[in-house]
Amino acid sequence: MNQQPNRPTAATMRRKDDLIVITGAGGFIGGALTRYFAEQGFTRIRAVDKKPIPKWYQRVPGVECLCLDLREPEACRRACEGAVEVYNLAADMGGMGFIERFRVECLRSILINTHMIEAAWRAGVDRYFFSSSACAYNVLLQQDPNVRPLKESDAYPAMAERGYGWEKLMSEMFCQEYWAERGLKTFIARFHNVYGPWGTWDGGREKAPAAICRKVIEAKDTGRMEITIWGDGTQTRSFMYIDDCVRGIDMIMHCDQLIATPINLGSSELVSINQLVSIVEEIAGVKLRRMYDLTAPRGVAGRNSDNTFIRQVLGWEPSTPLRQGLEATYRWIEQQYYDRKAGRATVRDEM
Ligand code: NAD
Repeated sequence: MNQQPNRPTAATMRRKDDLIVITGAGGFIGGALTRYFAEQGFTRIRAVDKKPIPKWYQRVPGVECLCLDLREPEACRRACEGAVEVYNLAADMGGMGFIERFRVECLRSILINTHMIEAAWRAGVDRYFFSSSACAYNVLLQQDPNVRPLKESDAYPAMAERGYGWEKLMSEMFCQEYWAERGLKTFIARFHNVYGPWGTWDGGREKAPAAICRKVIEAKDTGRMEITIWGDGTQTRSFMYIDDCVRGIDMIMHCDQLIATPINLGSSELVSINQLVSIVEEIAGVKLRRMYDLTAPRGVAGRNSDNTFIRQVLGWEPSTPLRQGLEATYRWIEQQYYDRKAGRATVRDEM
């Protein structure tokens, strides 16, 4: 079911020289999406990020790279000039440690989405993609580790994650109204925890899978065979591998049934943080003493993706097994860790 369903994608719908704009392209998912389209032979890709270009996680040959702060309307106008498709992945974000501490920064991403969608509409783009999040869901439905998977209608009545989640919900609404009032075809995916190589693994914005891989690697390297886990480790989540994420974005963006309709894009393989640690230990071939930091941010008690809708519309869902995706992620972070130790350049987010 998961392989290549016969769905419209950029490759089947677009000319290879149609201009594709990807924002947040210096980050994890935007970088992977840029590479994905470049590998399919698209010749005009414009990648945009506010980070200075040497700090981008991935630099793809042949891609136009622009360093712009998309909180500014003029920067958004420049980014969208001549575009046929816009994928807006730019946001000030990070794992729980970041979104619980920096709510104002998270909320201020509303400026990016407000100006980007207006600029895209003015530029006459054909399709506009917005990366929403499972944090847009009502937190009251996520108080038990044995959570019922969240289906799309669970965002309302609204009680989103403070800061970050409300910004996503409000930006979703912009997408819906630009379609309803102005006829811009918008597409909204609610990502559930994405992980994989070329993601943030250090510095304070990293998410649980990368943080746990790094801590296990550090423990092995230093010989201090212990690990600190945020919370009591019983919190549950699902984690989507990056390859599934970019493939899903492409299919969602080219499915007319999904215009202005939020859809989950996530794995439905639920694990506790304790189980996640066990998988990483197994990959690393170690067993660590676990310490629990009950004062650290832990987020909601449980969250999973209900994939009924995506299966029904696309005949597909993210299904890379966690063990397999983590193996690739662990190996990549290990390489980064030792590169840094040896003084070589690595992917790293500065706070
Ligand atoms: P990331 O932090 O790696 O990438 C985001 C990029 O946006 C960064 O490179 C950052 O420099 C850029 N950016 C921030 N502010 C900007 C601005 N004003 N102008 C231009 N660029 C700016 O994050 P990611 O994991 O790649 O996430 C991409 C999108 O997916 C975000 O919208 C995020 O909220 C959403 N999302 C991600 C996850 C996940 O698990 N990674 C889950 C849910 C939603």
